[in-house]
Amino acid sequence: MTPIRVGLLGLGIVGGGTWSILERNREEIARRAGREIVVTRAAVRPQDLERAALRTGGRIQLGTDPLQVVEAGDVDVVVELMGGYEPAKTLVLRALALGKPVVTANKALLALHGNEIFASALQHGVMVGFEAAVAGGIPIIKALREGLTANRIQWLAGIINGTSNFILTQMRDQGMGFAEALQQAQVLGYAEADPTFDVEGVDAAHKLSLLAAIAFGIPVQFERAHVEGITKLTAEDIRYAEELGYRIKLLGIAKRTEQGIELRVHPTLIPERRLIANVDGVMNAVLVHGDAVGSTLYYGAGAGAEPTGSAVVADLVDIARMTGSDPGHRVPHLAFQPDQVRDEVVLPVAEIETAYYLRLRATDRPGVLAEVTRILAQQNISIEAMLQKEPGAGEERVDVIMLTHVTRERAIDAAIAEIEGLESISAPVVRLRLETLSS
Ligand code: NAP
Repeated sequence: MTPIRVGLLGLGIVGGGTWSILERNREEIARRAGREIVVTRAAVRPQDLERAALRTGGRIQLGTDPLQVVEAGDVDVVVELMGGYEPAKTLVLRALALGKPVVTANKALLALHGNEIFASALQHGVMVGFEAAVAGGIPIIKALREGLTANRIQWLAGIINGTSNFILTQMRDQGMGFAEALQQAQVLGYAEADPTFDVEGVDAAHKLSLLAAIAFGIPVQFERAHVEGITKLTAEDIRYAEELGYRIKLLGIAKRTEQGIELRVHPTLIPERRLIANVDGVMNAVLVHGDAVGSTLYYGAGAGAEPTGSAVVADLVDIARMTGSDPGHRVPHLAFQPDQVRDEVVLPVAEIETAYYLRLRATDRPGVLAEVTRILAQQNISIEAMLQKEPGAGEERVDVIMLTHVTRERAIDAAIAEIEGLESISAPVVRLRLETLSS
């Protein structure tokens, strides 16, 4: 069979990794795909032309206009690895309109415009591969869409942002504050100069909204996710959580409940004995619970040139194998047949149910705890564990840490508002959520 010809948009970290894998494993990939996969063109920035020519050994046509690559007659598949919303979106839609399949690692683009992009792919009878957009090298899309297809997925929870996981690991292991750990992540190249999307939970929410769509057969709904990052976490809370037997991770949680779907990203206390609590550094992991299979865990590198390139190439192999197949018989983008994707209620965060970690800074005098427990009891919140720290020398304030049983977020909000009004409470109450999925 004739080779399948690839046009790369962007030859940065992931583009470079994809190129290297296709070069190094060319023969083995062809034996799997049934035909060769060759890069014929790539679009790069003008200042990168020379470097790109050196890297690709003059074997591909390089240019600075990505649209030219999309429209070129010697490009069968477009691989978008530039990032950002525009011109990526226009280029992807143009490729689809030309009947060219697309592979992309661009989770931000798909989280916001995925529904439109998948609809266009369907209309033009071509595929959009996006395995690389979620958890880098971990084949979680394929696992959910194909391997677990027999199941009613009940929930999934993932550590799906390596940068924030690295920062949290440093804060725990080295006792660093957030700012110091972030700086270290930047020095090591794990965090970008502008780390906002990573540390504010936005990147994790992009990925979570894609996973939830595939798990539950709902549209991609990033805008309805509840998103909290790790910027307000203190080394103290990480230490107190440890003392209580928990690790704090930035978790993306998608859960089906009778009232609707919970879609949330936030720092989460996880019992330290759980496997996912021990996913450290830049590694990623996704835990999926299906009614038939039970819990399954997927672990691996969530980013990096070749791990992410590995996912890009896997999509290219799928496309090579499917060329000529009836579009109606392909695996649907979001796992469910497009006419079976249903809008379901995504719950506002006030309606979620989970357990909580509360840290209060209180005056060290009798009666304070009684007042706090009375307020919690009024909201029907019961306490699972409590830790009271000794005040430091000359200090009047003590930290009191409480873990609650499962309750509704609305009740915790009301209790916190009242507790913060007490004269004996001197600082805002710190509230974190516990992972209660498998309990
Ligand atoms: P990157 O290293 O910055 O590579 C992107 C390259 O595309 C850069 O060289 C960039 O140039 C170039 N580019 C951007 N717009 C262009 C245009 N209009 N014309 C020509 N070249 C253009 O980024 P990356 O880390 O490879 O990420 C690429 C995509 O993969 C993003 O969507 C990212 O979210 C996703 N992703 C990355 C990883 C990872 O580990 N890095 C993992 C999973 C997913 P400039 O830098 O000059 O703009």
